[in-house]
Amino acid sequence: MAVDHVDVLIVGAGLSGIGAACHLRRSTPEKTVAILEGRDAVGGTWDLFRYPGVRSDSDMFTLGYSFRPWTDPKAIADGESIRRYVRETAREYGVDTLIRFRHRVVAAEWSSADARWTVRAHRTDTGETVVLTCRFLYACAGYYRYDEGWTPPLPGADRFTGRIVHPQHWPADLDHTGRRVVVIGSGATAVTLVPALAERAAHVTMLQRSPGYVVSLPSRDRLADALRRRLPAHLAYPLVRWKNVLVTMAMFQFSRRAPRLARSVLRRGVRRELPAGYDVDRHFSPRYDPWDQRLCVVPDGDLFAAVRSGRAEVVTDTVETFTATGIRLTSGRDLPADVVVTATGLNLLAVGGIELTVDGDRVDLARTVAYKGMMLSGVPNFAMTLGYTNASWTLKADLVAGYVCRLLRHLDRHGHQVCTPLAPDTDRLEPIIDLRAGYVLRSVDALPKQGPDTPWRLHQNYPRDVWTMRHGPVDDGVRFSRATASVATGGAPRA
Ligand SMILES: Cc1cc2nc3c(=O)[nH]c(=O)nc-3n(C[C@H](O)[C@H](O)[C@H](O)COP(=O)(O)OP(=O)(O)OC[C@H]3O[C@@H](n4cnc5c(N)ncnc54)[C@H](O)[C@@H]3O)c2cc1C
Repeated sequence: MAVDHVDVLIVGAGLSGIGAACHLRRSTPEKTVAILEGRDAVGGTWDLFRYPGVRSDSDMFTLGYSFRPWTDPKAIADGESIRRYVRETAREYGVDTLIRFRHRVVAAEWSSADARWTVRAHRTDTGETVVLTCRFLYACAGYYRYDEGWTPPLPGADRFTGRIVHPQHWPADLDHTGRRVVVIGSGATAVTLVPALAERAAHVTMLQRSPGYVVSLPSRDRLADALRRRLPAHLAYPLVRWKNVLVTMAMFQFSRRAPRLARSVLRRGVRRELPAGYDVDRHFSPRYDPWDQRLCVVPDGDLFAAVRSGRAEVVTDTVETFTATGIRLTSGRDLPADVVVTATGLNLLAVGGIELTVDGDRVDLARTVAYKGMMLSGVPNFAMTLGYTNASWTLKADLVAGYVCRLLRHLDRHGHQVCTPLAPDTDRLEPIIDLRAGYVLRSVDALPKQGPDTPWRLHQNYPRDVWTMRHGPVDDGVRFSRATASVATGGAPRA
């Protein structure tokens, strides 16, 4: 079998993988790069999710790439516009030709003797196994399972004569016009779906076990609109990006330092949107503090408008059982339904489910510690992209990509071939994701950890990370070396 070799192998052609390849093209054009993508399209999340109304809940000035301005008038954008933006970026930077589609990476074995990874991918079209080798493995594989969303047990679901769908697998043939729809869930997907479905459905009920925080933000950014009239995009974009970074950070810090005050500000925002007498406490006042879980953004208060109009309703209750015609609630109320949407979440999956092996030893991710939130202790020449929990994913993805380029240049400059983060000497380890959302808690034991201090701590602080990742040292907490075969023979590593 012919085995291809590249300097850097990227796994995943979503927002992160395409961004990573663009950074490498711009900063280290001499490196050979390939992207293995398990699906047959660019865009990852923004190609997979096709439910009505799918959109970002971050502003696109921070969800867009640092190097390519977001020029669409909408700050909170629909899935199709984001998909187009990722594809156009790939084309414009010439990285679309690096992608090998339908290659699902299943395993990667590191050899210290050769200072290289041997990567096995399953071709989903032909069933073949493809083997590649690379110097540096860069996982941009997202954070959840693509094949299956999370659905809790649904008692009596087999009796239900309507359709049950998960937003991750939205059927192209589902027409909800004039139908009664129940959306189970209270997260970002549920609050997106409800107003979008309510445009054509007979009625939509958002059924939640407990409420989440919902905040209305304008879908257009006034500063962006004003600046774009006066300045070229490449000057206006970073200004709006930084404004949004700082505003989001200020809101986050405010929530963390004064949670009770933050709660009451958020509650007042909701109260203003709903009619007098609406039970805001029951349906929109969570038991947890703001930012223990991500806040749900609704552009221009579209969810509240749907509730005000009577086309949608929020019900806070639990499912007793499905019936033939809908859902019976614990309170005894019956919710008639033709379609039930289980907006109940994702299944987390680290590093795209790739089985990593280092010199024959299987890497147990739960026993690794994340270095700068992007490498793993004891795993050589490996990086991964994991976005922020309190800000746009791409802010971190861009920093990680820039850091990988710095690291590769550092290796070349000093004649090293291998960089391995060395685990910190501490037992004060915490989960890598600091949210208490159900989908995190379900999988947290299988994920890498973070340590108490820099460079092992995820500060979830973009300005601080800009300093650390762009200007801070690349050799703190890392061992540099050469292929052990070349050290033993005093020569070049085996090709
Ligand atoms: C519905 C939804 C809305 C979201 N909205 C926001 C938002 O507004 N703001 C925000 O910051 N974040 C949001 N997120 C998080 C979102 O996933 C990130 O913004 C971003 O899209 C992640 O990009 P990514 O490229 O890292 O991962 P993904 O988009 O998940 O792409 C990963 C790619 O890797 C491929 N892949 C995975 N494993 C393998 C493998 N083993 N072999 C080969 N290929 C593989 C996948 O097929 C996919 O194409 C949202 C997530 C969802 C699900």
